Amino acid sequence: MAAGLLLGCIADDFTGATDLANNLVRSGMRVVQAMGVPAGPLDAGADAVVIALKSRTMDPAEAVAQSLGALQWLQAQGAQQIYFKYCSTFDSTARGNIGPVAEALMEALGTDFTIATPAFPDNGRTVFKGHLFVGEVLLSESGMQNHPLTPMTDPNLVRVLQSQCRRKVGLIDHRAVAQGEAAIAARIAALRAEGVGLAVVDAVSNDDLLRLGPAFKGLPLVTAGSGVAIGLPGNFGIAPSSQASTLPPVQGRQAVVSGSCSLATNRQVRAFIQTGRPALALDPLRVAAGVDVAAEALAWAEPLMASGPVLVYSSADADAVKQVQGQLGAEEAGAMVERTIAAIARGLVQRGVRQLVVAGGETSGACVQALNITQMKIGPQIDPGVPWCFAQSNAAGADGLHLTLKSGNFGTDDFFTKAFTILP
Ligand code: ADP
Repeated sequence: MAAGLLLGCIADDFTGATDLANNLVRSGMRVVQAMGVPAGPLDAGADAVVIALKSRTMDPAEAVAQSLGALQWLQAQGAQQIYFKYCSTFDSTARGNIGPVAEALMEALGTDFTIATPAFPDNGRTVFKGHLFVGEVLLSESGMQNHPLTPMTDPNLVRVLQSQCRRKVGLIDHRAVAQGEAAIAARIAALRAEGVGLAVVDAVSNDDLLRLGPAFKGLPLVTAGSGVAIGLPGNFGIAPSSQASTLPPVQGRQAVVSGSCSLATNRQVRAFIQTGRPALALDPLRVAAGVDVAAEALAWAEPLMASGPVLVYSSADADAVKQVQGQLGAEEAGAMVERTIAAIARGLVQRGVRQLVVAGGETSGACVQALNITQMKIGPQIDPGVPWCFAQSNAAGADGLHLTLKSGNFGTDDFFTKAFTILP
């Protein structure tokens, strides 16, 4: 196994960081995910570190500042290559932040060229002739055109990225990618000669991504979704192995908390209930009325946990959520529910839970914060994009804690029970 930090990664959101870490682990790297820039040096051996920021939709200047802070830390750990990770749907606002952050990192690294591709064929994200497809349709017809924060109305990534960049943006198209390393290198050289600073890269399959890997070996900076990650570990002499995902042995009680109202999560809640295991629904209106719903939930869970996993959830269908939001306001309702579930997660861990499933991206952020978790070692995958992790938490004492953070639409219907069968 290689010594020292090989790949230093900066992710623009939390569950996206885990998605990248998961792909790296599956390709053989030992990976630690840090929540924000760590205060001190790395506390465990790792081939790659993924620093999770929340910089996707913030002011571009602030996103740049935070990303440069992350870069400095990664360089101080000796990172040999930097990977800027964004969403596989290229989520950005009119002002960025993909372009501004990429260019700031290029400047700091003293490089005149990098690539950009959100391609992630395993999750149906493919790029062809610079156009991003989500499943069978163009990005601009995928629903992403209506996203509340990052509406994506143009599927042409060369145009999208150019609108965010000062440097010239070009394309490494599929003809070059299909031919492999030499053709890709020739195309990069030609683009560079034309003064192109950033090149969008076509990729429609994992074979394409694996061909890109060696061609990107000499780049100080790679910018991409999580897909490109599968081709990079080989450049460092690392091959896929189950050892990379080894976590300490599991212990303690098992619980699921869910604040996600996505369709997949609602199915997972129903499937868990159908197994006959204990499940408790949280009522946001009672939280708003000042009832200590967290204390109630913990008292409910305490005697039940001895005989298997329990579920505490606020997940509800779209109509119910709308009704609550109508009464409390969407943001206020969301924040209140997040605080409540985070308090429950912390209380559960204080009561002996050492295997915790959290559903919901924002909910995960709130729980990790409440548990005072700053770093996680990434372990085996449960479903695409969702690995088990191991972290120290002051709520778990000296034990440490296994947890998995599932973003809304990830995971099969039986995720809430299946997850507990994955760890040895
Ligand atoms: P996902 O990953 O599915 O998007 P998130 O946790 O990111 O899940 O977002 C779900 C949001 O909905 C959170 O802010 C959460 O607090 C809020 N929420 C959860 N349950 C309810 C509910 N019953 N009514 C209103 N809002 C809710």
